[in-house]
Amino acid sequence: MAADREIAAEDSIRVVCRFRPLNDSEEKAGSKFIVKFPSGPDDNCISIGGKVYLFDKVFKPNATQEKVYNEAAKSIVSDVLAGYNGTIFAYGQTSSGKTHTMEGVIGDPGKQGIIPRIVNDIFNHIYAMEENLEFHIKVSYFEIYMDKIRDLLDVSKVNLSVHEDKNRVPFVKGATERFVSSPEEVFEVIEEGKSNRHIAVTNMNEHSSRSHSVFLINVKQENLENQKKLSGKLYLVDLAGSEKARNYITVSKTGAEGTVLDEAKNINKSLSALGNVISALADGNKSHIPYRDSKLTRILQESLGGNARTTIVICCSPASFNESETKSTLDFGKRAK
Ligand code: ADP
Ligand code: MG
Repeated sequence: MAADREIAAEDSIRVVCRFRPLNDSEEKAGSKFIVKFPSGPDDNCISIGGKVYLFDKVFKPNATQEKVYNEAAKSIVSDVLAGYNGTIFAYGQTSSGKTHTMEGVIGDPGKQGIIPRIVNDIFNHIYAMEENLEFHIKVSYFEIYMDKIRDLLDVSKVNLSVHEDKNRVPFVKGATERFVSSPEEVFEVIEEGKSNRHIAVTNMNEHSSRSHSVFLINVKQENLENQKKLSGKLYLVDLAGSEKARNYITVSKTGAEGTVLDEAKNINKSLSALGNVISALADGNKSHIPYRDSKLTRILQESLGGNARTTIVICCSPASFNESETKSTLDFGKRAK
């Protein structure tokens, strides 16, 4: 059964922006810190090259993992436990902090990112509940590379397809589902998926910049007194580097062929599709939301907009060297508002 409370429009899509610190190689290369955070009560403003951007929240380079979680992600936990769907995704160029934000260092209380914190919180909520509820939690983990869905929990499944269930809700058919009963079990599944991913590719950093990784948590519950059932799905997505999509234009101009161009085209297609869906949702243009334009947006269909909760974390570098990518990332975030 679906949840019975409407999510207010302003809560359905939230866009937050996080800047990482300048790193050593940027400093050595003489890159300057070019962003300003105009002070205000809401911490929701950044300015770059005289242009001001407003988001629901802006995190400065010194913002802790805990602060980012509390202010950008935590509230989604109670929604999922109340039977809503949700998506949190990190968007930005390679090395802007997407994986740090979504995953961080699992098992390190200070450095762990959004995914492990959500997992801990879901179980803590469940342990603290007093009603007579029975929970079934399962997780899946896959990646989308060159518009193919590869199961990270079963390396033999390299091209899963998207089907629709009897309610016309799209899902990834045949994706491995693991039932889990503690945070530790979830973390083991994540480690397993990551090591499969490492084995399959020669250069993990390059590969992760070219593929979207998708971690799905599905929480089902039944009230044993009145048999009322609720189900909430939460997608946690670490997107391919957004510069790859922009490079498509450059690559096409230089006449590059083969894999590089195909990869760039695919990333361009899926990130544009995502941008188009989010901006149609943000505009309240409900008549035509172009979910069908990519596998990513099809999979996320029931978990983006509408009665689902979506949080976009726009990740940026503050270095002068990355100025044009940073502006393009901020523009993506702006389209979603
Ligand atoms: P991406 O996944 O976008 O390619 P990463 O998350 O891997 O980028 O970040 C690149 C590097 O910068 C990593 O070494 C990461 O630990 C570091 N980093 C990213 N964001 C932060 C931050 N907010 N504070 C400190 N270090 C960060
Ligand atoms: Mg990454």
